[in-house]
Amino acid sequence: MTDPFATRPSPPAALPREVAEAPAWRIANARAPLCLLRASGVAGDAEGLARVDLVVEDGRITGIGPAGGFRPDGDDLPRLDLAGRILLPRLVDVHTHIDKGHIWPRRPNPDGSFAGALAAVAADREAHWSADDVARRMDFSLRCALAHGTGALRTHIDSSGRQTATSWPVFAEMRETWRGIVALQGVSLFPLDMIHDDPHQFHEIVSTTARYEGVLGAVTFLGAAPDARVDAALDILTRTAAAEGLDLDLHVDESLAPEARTLERIADAAIRNRFPGRILAGHCCALAAMEEGEAARVIDKVAQARIAVVSLPMCNMYLQDRAAGRTPRRRGVAPLHELAAAGVPVMVASDNTRDPFYAYGDLDLIEVFREATRILQLDHSGRDWLRTIAATPADVMGLDGAGRLEAGGPADFVLLRARSLDELLSRPQSDRIVIAAGRPLASGPPDYSELDDLMHR
Ligand SMILES: [Zn+2]
Repeated sequence: MTDPFATRPSPPAALPREVAEAPAWRIANARAPLCLLRASGVAGDAEGLARVDLVVEDGRITGIGPAGGFRPDGDDLPRLDLAGRILLPRLVDVHTHIDKGHIWPRRPNPDGSFAGALAAVAADREAHWSADDVARRMDFSLRCALAHGTGALRTHIDSSGRQTATSWPVFAEMRETWRGIVALQGVSLFPLDMIHDDPHQFHEIVSTTARYEGVLGAVTFLGAAPDARVDAALDILTRTAAAEGLDLDLHVDESLAPEARTLERIADAAIRNRFPGRILAGHCCALAAMEEGEAARVIDKVAQARIAVVSLPMCNMYLQDRAAGRTPRRRGVAPLHELAAAGVPVMVASDNTRDPFYAYGDLDLIEVFREATRILQLDHSGRDWLRTIAATPADVMGLDGAGRLEAGGPADFVLLRARSLDELLSRPQSDRIVIAAGRPLASGPPDYSELDDLMHR
């Protein structure tokens, strides 16, 4: 037996100083997903991973090609030899709630239910969400995301009552502070029936969203089966978004109830109004509980309406089909295989972190992908699922060059101590190295104690 307490080097535990501080350097013998590469002459193995070399200069990728096959091997740049370990671009988290994140210690969900989450968040928002409180928790969340290798993130922002005027300016300031480090987008979040019940507030939210260059969002299923009133609200929403040049990002049918049928109504509204922008539908849990023929019909319509779908599997597993004393059976995770087969752009993302909608999570997309692979059986399918946390959400967010590896793109990498997908998915990859604009990050996620004063500890 080898001595379990002896320390052994296990590269890449850290980037050598002469590499980290050089203006130009070379990464040799990396494995990178072919589906995230824009390079000629590279070929993937059975898992879709290609052996590549990259040259980094002044924070950008200036060359990428087959390992050992481009530029002479004798070039004198300092080099980091990954010995076949996996390199990913920095990742893209397309659905989060960093305005809600990390309130769990002061406001847990009393019973783990959806209703419990709604009530707990509303009470916490009312009592605590000052500009300072929101800013500190957002900053904490972003440092978590950065440490885990996220390069772009979209967050929903609770937009109701006086919170709209508090949270959006905080978010806009955060976006400036983080520009060039993590690219940020904000989405308004309000219940769809506000369009009828409080049109004045709806228009205030629209103008705030437009002013801060956000994305217009709403919760479309509010407990009752959709009717003509919902269709009318969706018409107003799509026409208003089109007039303002805004994309849409909706919370859709986050329920297993048979009444949760707004996804098809959204597709109809998009087609009826010839909506010119992008639409992202989040959750779509009800699709998983539908009879298969009905689901197939709705999926076809979603494809026709050019709607993209993001599944939030960890949050769904926490909230859906929960009843005290009973083991959940129906897990409510959107049928991504069928959606992808129909040509719908599909993604997975973090959703909530340490708040009443999801007690756990740390904005770690490697964790999300690992969980999603197991929950959704993404393996054994022959599809390029790594796109779901990188290139596809980058396209949905309209971010050129993000979530991909290409010459001219940012030298943004996540280096993993894994050479194959099974090595990648079997461990949490806590020892990953994150490189942003060619520089390795010096610190990991922030310490929870930083927020103790906000949690009244
Ligand atoms: Zn959400």
